[in-house]
Amino acid sequence: MKIFAPFLLFCCILINAPQSAAQDGVDRIDYDALLDQKTTDWLLSTYKMLHAAPELSHHEEKTAAFFASELRKLGFTVTERIGKFERSEWTGYGVVAVLKNGPGPTVLLRTELDALPVDEKTGVPYASKVKMMNDAGVEVSVMHACGHDIHITSMLGSAKTLTALKASWHGTLVILGQPAEETIDGARAVLRDGLYTNFPRPDYVIALHDSAELETGRVGYAPGYAMASATAVDIKIRGLGGHGSQPQTTKDPIVIAAQVVMALQTIVSRENSPLDPAVVTVGSIHGGTRYNIIPDEVNLQLTVRTYKEDVRKRILASIERITKGVALAAGVPDDRAPIVKVSDTEVTSATYNDPQLAERLSRAFKRALGDDNVVKMAPMMASEDFGYLSLDQKIPAVTFWLGAVDPAKMKASKEGGDPLPSLHSARFAPVPEPTLRTGVKAMTSAVLDLMK
Ligand SMILES: [Zn+2]
Ligand SMILES: [Zn+2]
Repeated sequence: MKIFAPFLLFCCILINAPQSAAQDGVDRIDYDALLDQKTTDWLLSTYKMLHAAPELSHHEEKTAAFFASELRKLGFTVTERIGKFERSEWTGYGVVAVLKNGPGPTVLLRTELDALPVDEKTGVPYASKVKMMNDAGVEVSVMHACGHDIHITSMLGSAKTLTALKASWHGTLVILGQPAEETIDGARAVLRDGLYTNFPRPDYVIALHDSAELETGRVGYAPGYAMASATAVDIKIRGLGGHGSQPQTTKDPIVIAAQVVMALQTIVSRENSPLDPAVVTVGSIHGGTRYNIIPDEVNLQLTVRTYKEDVRKRILASIERITKGVALAAGVPDDRAPIVKVSDTEVTSATYNDPQLAERLSRAFKRALGDDNVVKMAPMMASEDFGYLSLDQKIPAVTFWLGAVDPAKMKASKEGGDPLPSLHSARFAPVPEPTLRTGVKAMTSAVLDLMK
């Protein structure tokens, strides 16, 4: 990976940047003077360099090294290789950077470092051509299809801005480069490796994520539950196989699986309160080898999404009860009962944005970006592992959305044109500018407000 380096000049520009008198109890920062053409060019070239060099979860070695070296240049105390995974052969490529600036609150800012096994089809000149071995040893194309390169670049921009504005804030700034978000085991891996015991424990945790549903130049926030918990469930339905022409000698697991899939639909529609959002999706079903063989087993893979933990537990119990009940009704003997396994690794908690903190940050964003560019957004049933960093909501935490879509394309799509590519799409191409500058302004304004 190419390393990009002209930062001392950048810092001098920032140190001399204008700051006008306090308004609303907060220093008004002239972001346009801070983020001048030279700085914007640096953000763009850094973003394009990162976009062309994505790395899969558990393999973020070069991205982490680049991130660490940039923060070290700014005067942060940087520790690399943070993260202990379930599988000991995986290295934790987490980066923790600390900047102490007198007494005051400790604020942790988090960016993810990893990319996805997606073959890029955006057609941009800086598109990724990278191929890597995945954890299963298969070569796959790799792309920053979730925009974590936008997050890394915005974070470095914010780190530089905040370093230059040290006279305007007091406290301890902690920046976390988190590995393995896409596999939702990275946040737990860095916590397990002492994120909150070997480094200052934060009073607030903040992150941003680019949005494929919001115009560039704007940010969105969702107080309260913003993203769902996700739990992976494997079901093995065991029957008694035999000849396709002699069903009377078998217990057909394909028919049982079909009944299970339909019966599971009643969990959300009949057992769950309509006021508690929940999803049960069967995403994979595999069984059998050819026309005239009734197989011995069928395997299902499910994802369960909820906001509340008690709802999640109840749904998992229902899945087991219904699956076993359908097999029992089909006459499957007890020793061939279905095996329902709830994953203990492919699981993540809900993302809960502390409402008070979210409202406070939204006011800071409005001062930095203008009222029209800050919008309240609806929660969604997608998931990520940011919630773990709040330690079950003990630490106020907020992740906010950073608009990344061309407004003209957004308008055309809303008026019946082509649907916009979502996050994780091979065609998702965030508009780099003004997305990057907006990310820096929003994150900087949040920290200045919390540490003023
Ligand atoms: Zn993602
Ligand atoms: Zn993401």
